[in-house]
Amino acid sequence: MLETTIAGSLPKPAWLAEPETLWAAWQLEGAALEEAKRDAALLWLKEQEDAGIDVVSNGEQFRVHFVHGFLESIEGIDWQKKTKMGIRDDRYVVEVPTVTAPVRRRGPVHGAEVRFTRAHTKQRLKFTLPGPMTICDTIADAHYGARPDMAMAFAEILNQEARELAALGVDLIQFDEPAFNVFMKDVKDWGIAALHKAIEGLDCTTAVHICYGYGIEANIQWKESLGGEWRQYEEIFPALNDSRIDQISLECADSHVPLELIGLLKDKAVMVGAINVADNAVESPEKVAATITAAMDYVDPERLLPCTNCGMAPMPRAVAAGKLKALAEGAALVRGKLAR
Ligand code: ZN
Repeated sequence: MLETTIAGSLPKPAWLAEPETLWAAWQLEGAALEEAKRDAALLWLKEQEDAGIDVVSNGEQFRVHFVHGFLESIEGIDWQKKTKMGIRDDRYVVEVPTVTAPVRRRGPVHGAEVRFTRAHTKQRLKFTLPGPMTICDTIADAHYGARPDMAMAFAEILNQEARELAALGVDLIQFDEPAFNVFMKDVKDWGIAALHKAIEGLDCTTAVHICYGYGIEANIQWKESLGGEWRQYEEIFPALNDSRIDQISLECADSHVPLELIGLLKDKAVMVGAINVADNAVESPEKVAATITAAMDYVDPERLLPCTNCGMAPMPRAVAAGKLKALAEGAALVRGKLAR
């Protein structure tokens, strides 16, 4: 009950990549880089276990970017052909690579890191992959002609990858879909269909993470534009509740999301974000417990998994470690109260 987990990323140690920088370049190369990634993953497994996190991850220590980390191993993408694109509905304008041919995996993408991670923890293991809609909102299309078609093509290769990772012992595969909070109509029209393709035949638990993003400037400004109540989830949760995805990850800590929207997910396990990733102040266990308790008005503790709002990659390492501990201690406080 109230099993804890994290949304995904954790900070890279300073010897692996520049600290407190989102998408920082690697500090090393070649074999030394590969060794350093493994060392960093070990460090975060230990930190999560020591903190008391129940379902652990490698903290995405093996990738720079949550979407490109997957795309780098995919055929059909021209990385030289940069297209200027407003992503997440023009929240950021960036130069993105371009799909110029059918997309295909060259081979396993994350297999080696998962094998390594699996071998070094007995905890249940989660692994995150970018969702098809978010991929399509992070790359330009000069081949498929329609976003739903490109999304289905990516869903197909995500499915191949996910099946291999599940066979290697991953207990939960989570697809990160921040784009779901931006293109709510598309979620219902084809976003969930693409996710269903991505989880087809998977025998592990499946999840989708839908957030309001990292605590970076563009996101902070966007959030300020959303008004006092953020009701994006309201448009998509009924469809997600009807979907075949097992768990939904959402943000609740210091958020303008009305908690009653959780009530729309009555048939799902809910990862409740109880850690604010946009604030370096480490929550007290009591504050985490209060967020969990407030969410329990809408989801019973058997279906509630205390989690972080989003990834913690851009935070100082000690802050992220402190927040892991606060999350586990906050959940333990609520468990203690329920046992009484
Ligand atoms: Zn997120």
